[in-house]
Amino acid sequence: MPVPLFDTKGPLAPLRAELLARITEVVDDGRYILGPNVDAFEREFAAYVGADHAVGVANGTDAITIALRAMGVGPGDEVVVPSFTFYASAEAIPPTGAVPVFCDVDPDTFCVTAETVKAALTPRTKAVIAVHLFGNVAPVAEIEALGVPVLEDAAQAAGSTSAGGRPGALGTAATFSFFPSKNLGCFGDGGAITARDAEVADRVRMLRFHGSWDKVTYEHVGVNSRLDELQAAVLRVQLPHLDGWADGRRAAGQHYAEAGLGELVQLPVPVEGCAPAWHLYVIRHAQADAIAAALAAAGHGQKAYYRTPVHRQPAMARWGAGTSLPVTDELAATHLAIPLNPLLTAEQAAEVTATIRRALDAGRG
Ligand SMILES: *Cc1c(COP(=O)(O)O)cnc(C)c1O
Repeated sequence: MPVPLFDTKGPLAPLRAELLARITEVVDDGRYILGPNVDAFEREFAAYVGADHAVGVANGTDAITIALRAMGVGPGDEVVVPSFTFYASAEAIPPTGAVPVFCDVDPDTFCVTAETVKAALTPRTKAVIAVHLFGNVAPVAEIEALGVPVLEDAAQAAGSTSAGGRPGALGTAATFSFFPSKNLGCFGDGGAITARDAEVADRVRMLRFHGSWDKVTYEHVGVNSRLDELQAAVLRVQLPHLDGWADGRRAAGQHYAEAGLGELVQLPVPVEGCAPAWHLYVIRHAQADAIAAALAAAGHGQKAYYRTPVHRQPAMARWGAGTSLPVTDELAATHLAIPLNPLLTAEQAAEVTATIRRALDAGRG
């Protein structure tokens, strides 16, 4: 039986009646933007991650731009960001007026480290974006110890835990995406920013609503980037189930390990002290493309998300040119996401593993 790359519908099936009931309430209530569900979700999500403040926004990309601006990032500043990440992590920087400076990552965890960040710091560095890639949790405290504020890009890490707390509670601020395929996804676009102190959170609220503190006077050129009531209502139904789904994602990774996948390819390695709610399960192998072709031929999902790293993308040429990131280039060439979802069974993991084993045996023979 073919195993899909991800399954957004399966985990939601038991919640169908409750989701429809909450959606109906919103339709009947008549408030559709920034209403009681958004207020309640902001409180519930802040409590879940262990942050003092949470603010709903329209998506995870706007969230990064708004959070950076709220942290004081602007023209003349540099923001350090990994190149091995989703493009939006870096795309969100130029709209603040600052420029991206790309750094490398750890080959086993896929995340930035204090060492890789340090190599990219200059006197103009105003902030570092620590991406919790694939659900792993970057070492935020070690990076802050370099003396630079950290914005967590936690778009892929809802449900993960670390010794220092959950993603979203580790840096000056953090951003989340609720795109449907993320660990916590709504039925459209959505996002949130969490913050440690009230000042940053207040500026986020001002920027998301046209740069106005009171919705009458417009002091700044902000944006229109709001979470709507339908999405917030859907997220409130799902949030209590996030930890259970995270357990399912970890169990799926365990199923692959028990099927012997680690003897065939490099498995992802959790950052020390962290329990990743794998958003994607990403393996590494020199023959990644041959493995992908074999999985595709068997009908199984697979995707090489970041074959061209961000610093080599055309739009980033003026900031990425001349940057040497050997680990990023190596990971870009060798990584491959294989099927993962909270309900993935041991049988499915064994089937995908067997397909990979056959592909590598054939390549050797
Ligand atoms: C998905 C994602 C984003 C952007 O979120 P959107 O809601 O799609 O705008 C940013 N960073 C990372 C690492 C992501 O995976």
